[in-house]
Amino acid sequence: MKTMNRREALGMLGAGVAGGMLMRGAAAREAENGRPPNIVVVFADDLGYGDPGCYGAPLINTPNLDRMAREGVRFTDFYCSAAVCSPSRAGLLTGRYHVRMGINTVFFPQSKDGLDVSEVCVAELLKEHGYATACIGKWHLGHQPEFLPTRHGFDYYFGLPYSNDMDVEKRGDPPVPLMRNEEIIEQPADQNTLTRRYTEEAIRFIGEHRDRPFFLYLPHTMPHVPLHVSEDFSGKSKGGLYGDVVEELDWGIGELRNALQVNGVDDNTLMIFTSDNGPWLVKEEHGGSAGSLREGKGTTFEGGMRVPCIMRWPGRIEAGRVERRMASTLDFLPTFAGLAGGAPPTDRALDGEDIRPLLLDGTGRNREEFHYFHQGQHQAFRSGKWKLKRPYKGRIYGKPVEHPALLFDLEADPGEQHNLAEAEPERVAEMEAAMDAFWASLQPLPANKS
Ligand code: MG
Repeated sequence: MKTMNRREALGMLGAGVAGGMLMRGAAAREAENGRPPNIVVVFADDLGYGDPGCYGAPLINTPNLDRMAREGVRFTDFYCSAAVCSPSRAGLLTGRYHVRMGINTVFFPQSKDGLDVSEVCVAELLKEHGYATACIGKWHLGHQPEFLPTRHGFDYYFGLPYSNDMDVEKRGDPPVPLMRNEEIIEQPADQNTLTRRYTEEAIRFIGEHRDRPFFLYLPHTMPHVPLHVSEDFSGKSKGGLYGDVVEELDWGIGELRNALQVNGVDDNTLMIFTSDNGPWLVKEEHGGSAGSLREGKGTTFEGGMRVPCIMRWPGRIEAGRVERRMASTLDFLPTFAGLAGGAPPTDRALDGEDIRPLLLDGTGRNREEFHYFHQGQHQAFRSGKWKLKRPYKGRIYGKPVEHPALLFDLEADPGEQHNLAEAEPERVAEMEAAMDAFWASLQPLPANKS
């Protein structure tokens, strides 16, 4: 097995293999279309694989997400790039595994560091191509001025600079701040109104920029614990307070769709909904559900990193499609660069790929591979349907966890219940070697920043 690097992947496209020819088809249609598409990314926090109705939630009503899935593509094997907040955001915005940037755990109010300005953030790249850009929601990539969204290519920022539970007095945390651009405008932030206010800010941004391409990155604070919900949604869901919170997020999805339609930009907007990591299971009824997947946030089992993902673009993405091939948030930057008529940076290694062929033409991708990192460790690797998880001994949210090498056939066993490592020693050895080679290719890695 060989891990294809990015240069080889781009070379394959240039050589005119099937993917490359289709890529030219998709790219040609972009050019015909004239104006590049708007891009809206709604990024929930700690929402699990089993939480939206269209992913099987029994008690939570998500009519707007369900409609989005009927009108677009719903992914079954989509990954966020890390199992916790800050590393996951770093991956989405740069197209690079977080270990390359030393963002291995989460930033705290005491952190002095953040996403380095030398990284190319997708907002910066789109801004260069004429996009208006906004980050509305939770940033969590450094709250010192030099690391804020406004220093990473976002024209506008409104939201919390880090997690909504980071107000622990004995640690010396200040009350949770709400920021506009680089100013704190409310402290403590009124968390009950955050989902509604983020949605209103997003709608205003769409209205103000309907005449030019825009990129709206909307990383919601919810449903990260402590859960907060506005009065209109409080006590309404059969899924308890957690359900109320998710149903308010779902309302926001419907409002955004309306705003795109009212402003006449619906047909020229790619809208994406996904989550930054799996459910925070130790929070019990205040945490979400990974459905039939194993474990949740903070682990490299599927429940920690396989998340709901729905993409909608009327007339461009086939309606009602269920996509079983892999994709990840690492693919966003190269894909968005292509949609904008540009190219991803070539002076650094990228880990995602331009998935326009998969998205728009329903054809494959070049690499059916994904690496799972947690706390600076290379814990697991997926190649096609096979996943190898290295032996582990440690603690996950205080609970001792120990397991030997695990090999799963994710097609037959997405719940990771049947370890095939002993039955398939050659496959284990082959996948271990691929992991070792990839790890070696990452060296030297920067020291941990977070
Ligand atoms: Mg999170």
